[in-house]
Amino acid sequence: MAIQTSPFDQLVKEASRNMRGFSGKDTPDDTLLQDCVHCGMCLPTCPTYRLTGNEASSPRGRLWMMKAVADGRMDLLDPAFDEQMYQCLNCRACEAVCPSGVQYGPLVEASRAQLEQHRPRPRWQRVARSVGMRLPFDDIRRMRALTGGLRLYQRSGLSAVLQRTGVLKRLGLETLEAMVPPVRERPLVSGRESWQPEDATATAHLFNGCVMSTVFSGVNRAAGRVLAHNGYATDVPATQQCCGALYVHAGMMDEARRLARINIDAFERDGNGAIVVTAAGCGAALKEYDHLLADDADYRDRASSFAERVVDLTELVGTDRLVQPTVSASQQVTYQEPCHLAHAQRITQQPRTMLGSVPGLELTEMRESSLCCGSAGIYNIIRREMADDLGDRKAQHIKDTGAGVVVTANPGCAMQLRTSLNRNNINAEVRHIAEILDDAYGGERAARDGTWAFQRATPPT
Ligand code: SF4
Ligand code: SF4
Repeated sequence: MAIQTSPFDQLVKEASRNMRGFSGKDTPDDTLLQDCVHCGMCLPTCPTYRLTGNEASSPRGRLWMMKAVADGRMDLLDPAFDEQMYQCLNCRACEAVCPSGVQYGPLVEASRAQLEQHRPRPRWQRVARSVGMRLPFDDIRRMRALTGGLRLYQRSGLSAVLQRTGVLKRLGLETLEAMVPPVRERPLVSGRESWQPEDATATAHLFNGCVMSTVFSGVNRAAGRVLAHNGYATDVPATQQCCGALYVHAGMMDEARRLARINIDAFERDGNGAIVVTAAGCGAALKEYDHLLADDADYRDRASSFAERVVDLTELVGTDRLVQPTVSASQQVTYQEPCHLAHAQRITQQPRTMLGSVPGLELTEMRESSLCCGSAGIYNIIRREMADDLGDRKAQHIKDTGAGVVVTANPGCAMQLRTSLNRNNINAEVRHIAEILDDAYGGERAARDGTWAFQRATPPT
């Protein structure tokens, strides 16, 4: 006997038929989604849940939504899904505490890739995205040209005039401007500089990055000297490009894959030594190239070999083999843990070992050191309100330590901390950990004099 269906059942069936689930490339892996056992242990670590108290804004809530879209119970283009996938900072604090081993990062990135592929966008948005993302990150030469313009702008006094007259505020560019530190050094062009101690015992290849090689080129040079001081002959392989992390975070996977292939080619040409990274966000992305290129038959295995060579600077030198610095610092510092170092790469002790080795330096731990500062790629530009709340919270914790210097290991964090401290009128300098160690080894002068060659006590193995 045929089963009668009510008009309501028909309506539900029709609606389900029109429901857009995940499809095409980069779909969230359903087996990974099934790992979540809904225990809720991740909730207290999630910055957006802490700020809102909403289940939907928690890792568990977001994983539930991803599964609902995968199972056809929620539309991919449901505004609530879109909102939660982009409200998430992708800080991966949830992943680090999950007893079930849920790989949250790849899941949220694939969900964003799905939105990228299937969400219709007005033409102006597509153009704005192209200009905002592809212009600086597709080719490092463009980033260098933009930074050259920025340096000129900062040095010409135009920046001060526009601030004084309120023009920046009227154009909505005040925060963006406040984020960028003074660009003091010329860009570090890959392939043109290296650090070669006479008695080197190992080799290292510096991953130069886009923002690190331009706005923070002084940090990369400091890292080169720190490595040399620890016995690594260090070069900066030519033809490397941006790591593609910002593309991955935005769900622009093909753009990220293009850069990944270029970087794999570049570092294969330069032997097998460690690929050393000074930006936590880049390091996390580079270590996941094998996942990014898993479906590329030509690059899959090469991506795995590449990923195995990647180390953060702190991971390589912040061990018991660290050459003890001799120049006293006599300052109080606090340490802000970048999410992609602490949670994505699980590196927490090595930076503290490095700081603890500096004579006279006093490390005072801040509260919630590993809670996201609100930077999260371009989150602090596109989601100002929540990013500012997190930045203010972080600035207060820094103030409570009484430290005059806050140390970090990621350019995004450095810029967000700088803006947050300024906004809260807190007088603390933001520095990269490579700069602190470099100073403690005598900085550029020691490098010039060749002092690093005889100051080393224990050679790295
Ligand atoms: S993500 Fe992990 S910690 Fe969070 S609810 Fe699921 S199983 Fe529990
Ligand atoms: S990645 Fe961060 S913001 Fe996103 S759900 Fe996990 S803990 Fe929350």
